[in-house]
Amino acid sequence: MQYNAYPLMRGRQRIGAVLFFNDVTEARRNAARIEFLAHHDPLTSLANRLLAEQRFAHHCAEIKEPGGSIAVLFLDLDGFKHINDTLGHESGDRMLQAVADRLQQHVAQDATVSRVGGDEFVVLLPELTDRKAATAQIESLLQALAQPYRVGPHPLSASVSIGASFFPDDGPDFATLVKKADTAMYQAKDAGRNTWRAFETAMGRLEHQTLHLRGSFLDGLQNNEFVLHDQPQLRLADNRLIGAEALVRWKDANGRLIPPAHFIALAESSGMIVPLGEWVLRKACRQAVQWQALHPEPLVVAVNISAIQFKRGLLEQTVAAALHESGLPPHLLELELTESTLLTQTEMVLATMHRLRELGVRLSIDDFGTGYSSLAYLKRLEVNKLKIDRSFIDNLTASQEDSVIVKAIIEMARSLKLQTLAEGVEQEAVLDYLRELKCDEVQGYVLARPLPAADFLCYLAARPERLSPAADTMTA
Ligand code: C2E
Ligand code: MG
Ligand code: MG
Repeated sequence: MQYNAYPLMRGRQRIGAVLFFNDVTEARRNAARIEFLAHHDPLTSLANRLLAEQRFAHHCAEIKEPGGSIAVLFLDLDGFKHINDTLGHESGDRMLQAVADRLQQHVAQDATVSRVGGDEFVVLLPELTDRKAATAQIESLLQALAQPYRVGPHPLSASVSIGASFFPDDGPDFATLVKKADTAMYQAKDAGRNTWRAFETAMGRLEHQTLHLRGSFLDGLQNNEFVLHDQPQLRLADNRLIGAEALVRWKDANGRLIPPAHFIALAESSGMIVPLGEWVLRKACRQAVQWQALHPEPLVVAVNISAIQFKRGLLEQTVAAALHESGLPPHLLELELTESTLLTQTEMVLATMHRLRELGVRLSIDDFGTGYSSLAYLKRLEVNKLKIDRSFIDNLTASQEDSVIVKAIIEMARSLKLQTLAEGVEQEAVLDYLRELKCDEVQGYVLARPLPAADFLCYLAARPERLSPAADTMTA
């Protein structure tokens, strides 16, 4: 027990004292608790960012060997959001505790394990003599963390993506090293998750570009800087318009149109393709509703979908919302997928495709012939159409080889009950030849270039079918 004495005065005269008694053990306990909370994460009891930073400084001071180094690992759980969303936050918290325990069991004794965000952990591996020593530890961590967990009644499996940076090669201080490890972690996610990447200087440049692009993309979406152009598609059997492909362009500050080739790949690597793709879907569906009033037969709008939208976006929900909002009937929306989308994460993609087909939308494979789709694979896909890549069409009448390939694709598609559309048709002679080969549909400059939305409405209004619905012998 401890007390503080405060004098009791009358004027200048001391007439007594007030004694304040403290329970020291209680005070000590409180102080220890405050000290703990200041340096630890209450959920997992792991070190927090502050303590990790202090430990980092301590590890730095301890390096004695020349060439000695510290690895900073940034770990992010794969698919944690899904666990939280499906099983609730309580299970999510228990999962984080289980991961924290497993992390601590599987790192060396002098390592620091900290939790720095929702499902983000930073691990410090001190006293490394070389990178190889870190590699072995990281790989065993990946393996240990991928083993199933038991959270209440649920056996759960999760994996992590890890990015690594090294002191002193990648930076002099904790903040820089964590940022670089975080950048490398995103590369590990992009490489398919459940893996790790070490930071490389080129990633820093990419991140800078990405950050800049992310900002301008979000501004662009907000400021209506993106527009869709529509390129007509024609059925060869009766020369009727069947619909159009919506192709995105970015209008810069000077009103110039930037073609998708200049920004889609960057939008994909920065993840911005998800909000952009969603905007495209919504806009395309709304525009397609307007088309219907100007044409005697229903017109289908084709929208390009990136592999990243399959992997990261909630594609079905986005599609359903776009259809619902616009009122477009599902069979008038066609999603164009690329062969590369279909070749990664096959089972997940097949399941999503199945659910999309159940919604009633149509599916096609874009740029067909440039990937590696096997016949057996095509049979499993629930697509309606193959869009034969422009590279086989360009030279069709002159190249024996291209002609053999296009014939083979058309015949194979017919036997699988798939439609074919030839992309990039520029000449009448090619159009005639495709008709001879019994290709079903065409798209290309020979009909029209991609048109601004308003011009496409004029194009529709001037179509021969509109003037004479029975005119099926007229040319395009
Ligand atoms: P794609 O889906 O294969 O689209 C066809 C491309 O061929 C378009 O280029 C179109 O303008 C061009 N094209 C059409 N007919 C002809 C022709 O007769 N001759 C030649 N030389 N070219 C023709 P664009 O609009 O520059 O789009 C390029 C690619 O960008 C598209 O290829 C597609 O993969 C991608 N893309 C466009 N919009 C989107 C989008 O909203 N989302 C995603 N993920 N990708 C998009
Ligand atoms: Mg396309
Ligand atoms: Mg294409």
